Order: sequence, then structure tokens, then C-alpha cells
Amino acid sequence: MSGYTLVQPDCPVKLNQNECPFDVPGDLKRQIMDEALASNWGRYPGFVPLETRTAVGERHGLGPEHILIGNGSNELIQAIFQAAVGQGDRVVLLAPTFTLYALMGRIAGADLRTVYLKRDLTFDVDRLVEESAHPGLRLVVLCSPNNPTGSMIQPEEVAAVAGSTGGLVVVDEAYYEFGGVSCIELLDRHPNLVITRTFSKALGAAGLRLGYLAADPALAREIEKIKLPYNVNTISLIAARKLIAQDALIEERASLIRSERQRVFEGLQDLPGIRPWPSHANFVLFETERPVSEIFQGLIDRGVLIRDVSRYPMLERGMRVTIGLPEENDTFLGALREVLADQ
Ligand code: PMP
Repeated sequence: MSGYTLVQPDCPVKLNQNECPFDVPGDLKRQIMDEALASNWGRYPGFVPLETRTAVGERHGLGPEHILIGNGSNELIQAIFQAAVGQGDRVVLLAPTFTLYALMGRIAGADLRTVYLKRDLTFDVDRLVEESAHPGLRLVVLCSPNNPTGSMIQPEEVAAVAGSTGGLVVVDEAYYEFGGVSCIELLDRHPNLVITRTFSKALGAAGLRLGYLAADPALAREIEKIKLPYNVNTISLIAARKLIAQDALIEERASLIRSERQRVFEGLQDLPGIRPWPSHANFVLFETERPVSEIFQGLIDRGVLIRDVSRYPMLERGMRVTIGLPEENDTFLGALREVLADQ
């Protein structure tokens, strides 16, 4: 089995992991640390992190019984696979999409069914509904906005998938803040739906490892049985409560990323032999006429690290660049221009 790996040479401009280019502001870090200092590190966190679950739920008009907090959203995705999927069970995944789902599926011994995106990289909803309606189906994992394409599925389309299946439907909304379309409102009507979110992207706290899921309380209780006790430490739980309340800060930053994304998209469109795809996330997928490995190395030589996604299905010519600070985006576009000019 090949693992989840990452080539990561040291580069001054790091646009390969879809992180937030802004750190948590100093005054907010200080508030978090003040509360952390006043807490007793000798004690386990609460058996149920109720305060944090309540704070996260409030953001979505949901009670704490709908919410689970994870050590990154990846941990919760793992818990969902462990809770729902056994040897030989049918699981529907998109392709191309975030590679972790297939890894979790293979570990569980699942019968993985692939629904490819359409040629224009939009979701093939008819095929998704068809595959999901199979009587033995246990789990469908959708990622919206999808990594690494940036394309999105609409709530009514997710409702069609959720309504067609007896299995669980996960929508990984890690990049929600950059696209603005969520399926959380569907939870009322679809008790088989799970939404996952992360603090690693728009909330700018990848280093703290925080994520959460929202689901029907009965389903949340089942997934909770799988999750390790005390999976999130006292300091991260404090940070989660403070960060989730920063609506204005999150929106201000997401809006800057969205306008930079448009600028990078247009900059890429102007380059010869480069074809960018429209994105609803904090990254842009583009295809190159020149071999991806040459472009990737040429950018590294100029101090810019992006992601080679050419091994993903359908993306043989694909590269993904995270939207960074305006000056980082300029450096990237300038470096790519140079690499392309350098025959
Ligand atoms: N979901 C998707 C689709 C992602 O691209 C990523 C980041 N690579 C994650 C989840 C990771 O989330 P976390 O840091 O919360 O584990």
C-alpha cells in the first residue's frame, strides 16, 4: 500500500498545502494562552468537551449534541470510516479528490467504487445518485469545494444523493469559507448526512490540529463511540472556542483570499501553455503543456513550492497552487513566467 506522502523541500514561498497565509493574530493567541495558563494541565479535559461543542454548534444554530470535535478533521473522517465501513463494504468516492478517503477505505478493506468528475471537473450527480442507491452501499464521501479541483456540489444535489441511499453521506467542507455554499442546512431533513469542517484552512490554525463534524445527534453518538477519549487537548479546546467566534476576522481573510484567487486565475490565464480551472477554494488547479515535473522543479529552483497533482486520475498535466499573500502570489506568477520562458 502506498501511504499519504508529501515531498517538501524548503522553499521561502510555500504554496503546497492549502494553509492560511496569515497566522492567528498575536492578541488572540495571548488570550488563548492566558486561559491555557489558568487551566490545570494535570487533569484530563472534560469527558465531553461541552463548552467547545456548544460554541461550535452555536455558529451553525445547532446544539452541542450535533457536534464532535476532532484532532484535525482527518481524525473524524477516520472515525467515520471505522464506524461505518467493514471488510467488503461498498464505499463511493469521487475521483480526483482528497487522497485520504481512499487510504481510509483501503485500510477498512472496503469495496471502493469510483465516480469520476465530468470532463469539465464538475460533479457527475446522476452517476453519484446511481452508485449511492445500491442496496449494499455504506458510505459516500463528497468533498466540496473539492480538493484538488476547486469544483463544488450544490446542496440540492447532495440532498438527491442523501435521499437515494441507505448509507452515510459525508460532505467534507474543509474549504467552505472560500466557496460560501454549505450543506449544513440539510441536516434537519437527512439524518444520514455528516458535514466535516476544519480549523486548518480559513481559520488559520493548521498547527493546532482542530476539526469538527456536524450530524444528527443519533449518528454523532455512534461516531463518538469510535473516537478515542480525550482526543483533543485542553489548550486546543480553548483555542477552538476562541477561534470559532471570530466571524469578522475569518470573513475578512477569506475575502482577501477570494480576490487574490481571482487575480492568480487571471494571471495564469495570461501565461502561454497554462490552463487554470475556476476554483471555489483557497487554491487553483492548472494544467500545463510542458511536463509537470519540469515546471515543479523550475519553481522550486526559484524558491516556490506548489503541489504536483499529476498522479491524480484525470490530471496528468495538473498542478495545484495555494493562494498565499499578495506578494507570494506575485512571486509565484513571476517564477512561473520565467520557467515557461526558459525552454
Ligand atoms: N479535508 C480536505 C479536503 C483537505 O484538503 C484537508 C487538508 N489537506 C483536510 C481535510 C485536512 O484537515 P485537517 O487539517 O482538519 O485534518
